[in-house]
Amino acid sequence: MRIEEELKLDFNDVLIRPKRSTLTSRSEVDLSREYVFYHSGLHYQGIPIIAANMDTVGTMEMAKALARHGVSVALHKHYKEPELAAFFKARARPKAGEAGSAVFYSMGITEADYRKFRRVKEAAGDLIEYVCVDVANGYTKSFVGFLQKLRKNYPKITIMAGNVVTGEMTEELILDGADIVKVGIGPGSVCTTRKMTGVGYPQLSAIIECADAAHGLGGLICADGGCTSAGDLAKAFGGGADFVMLGGMLAGHDECMGDVVDSDGERKARFYGMSSRTAMDKYSGGVSAYRASEGKEVLLDCRGPVEGTLREILGGVRSACTYVGARRLKELSKRTTFIRVARQLNEVFGQS
Ligand code: 5GP
Repeated sequence: MRIEEELKLDFNDVLIRPKRSTLTSRSEVDLSREYVFYHSGLHYQGIPIIAANMDTVGTMEMAKALARHGVSVALHKHYKEPELAAFFKARARPKAGEAGSAVFYSMGITEADYRKFRRVKEAAGDLIEYVCVDVANGYTKSFVGFLQKLRKNYPKITIMAGNVVTGEMTEELILDGADIVKVGIGPGSVCTTRKMTGVGYPQLSAIIECADAAHGLGGLICADGGCTSAGDLAKAFGGGADFVMLGGMLAGHDECMGDVVDSDGERKARFYGMSSRTAMDKYSGGVSAYRASEGKEVLLDCRGPVEGTLREILGGVRSACTYVGARRLKELSKRTTFIRVARQLNEVFGQS
């Protein structure tokens, strides 16, 4: 046994220190980013926020709504093959040089996942440019092997892969074929991994350390999970995230296409983790005897169209940029100084 003494931080442990700025208005801030991906060589320009590949967030309806703002989506993996092929074929892609959204095809690492992907890719061809390979634990040999196989067979697709939380595994995944490494174990709003297993890593430190490792090799990271406000996105970008993935913040909207239930006379939207009992009952015929669920279900207020929430999020991040004098999102990380703050006792102990 070993104890690592170095302090690791979560979003709540810091604030961003304001800096002198010549910006006069939020409208002067440009939130789009441009990247050329390390392996695929694909050029991306857009607002680097991605809706999570959860079945009530990463929907085709969400993809259409967010595309209007240059925001991306990772489609959930439970769509049927014909639906996926039809969606990718019909989707209007941004023209070269224009800001635009990416749509990720998501998959796990089983043979069945791979065969499904091959068939959809055959049907939709080059219209599938982005793939998200997603497992709860990105540290396994089988995950690395799958990533290598995918990269070898599809050299031109942009691969986002994860999840991991440490620099050395981020480097490994980039060398194995990932263009973007997805970072986060345990911070999700409906994730119970930390409770169920004791495993995890404070998300802001994970972002800072993994971004540093990825950027050293020319790769990128996507901070996945734990954002509960626009300020958290600003901290993630300030810490070096190239993309930020959102689940809970985009849940409960019309575009989520989830179940709406009556709870004490109020309409509530069901939102659950993809490893929760709810999801496993729905897609895998229940929780297998040898495993426990690592997600929970919550009921959220129904929030109407996602447009309003998105505007608030983008407004908040723009405002953060003006506080530190970053004219472009790209400059936010360079201009960020985090100050550590003492956490409120009620946050630590869950008292109200
Ligand atoms: P949020 O933005 O809601 O805080 O986090 C979204 C992220 O939580 C997802 O992108 C995914 O990585 C993670 N997640 C989703 N469902 C589950 C689950 O059931 N268990 C765990 N451990 N993580 C989950």
